[in-house]
Amino acid sequence: MEDCLFCKIIKGEIPSKKVYEDEDVLAFYDINPAAPIHILVIPKKHIKSLADIEEDDEKLLGKIHMVINKIAEEKGFKEEGYRVIINCGKNGGQEVMHLHFHILAGKKLGEKVV
Ligand code: 5GP
Ligand code: ZN
Repeated sequence: MEDCLFCKIIKGEIPSKKVYEDEDVLAFYDINPAAPIHILVIPKKHIKSLADIEEDDEKLLGKIHMVINKIAEEKGFKEEGYRVIINCGKNGGQEVMHLHFHILAGKKLGEKVV
């Protein structure tokens, strides 16, 4: 989708530090890390937010979770643990309107909301 920051990252029009890529999913380091390790995992399909997923996306969403665990294993933080966050919409604090999963790791995370 034009004018979408993350679609531009997928197309390589904006550079990113890639962590993982396949035909459906891209993962890259967040530009403004909120933890020692902060990775964003996104579908290559432009989906605006969690509120916009459709039944056809079920497999893709499952795959993203498998990719998250693969990254955790490869980057060595699977054992110590990590947090996965999806901000959705205005009240959820979503700033980039392309569905993304934040992976935070590398320290004992504080400020638990739930
Ligand atoms: P949100 O607030 O929408 O859940 O998260 C958007 C995330 O995208 C933020 O953590 C922000 O730091 C990150 N971000 C914004 N612009 C860029 C960029 O150009 N490159 C990368 N790698 N991350 C970005
Ligand atoms: Zn997009």
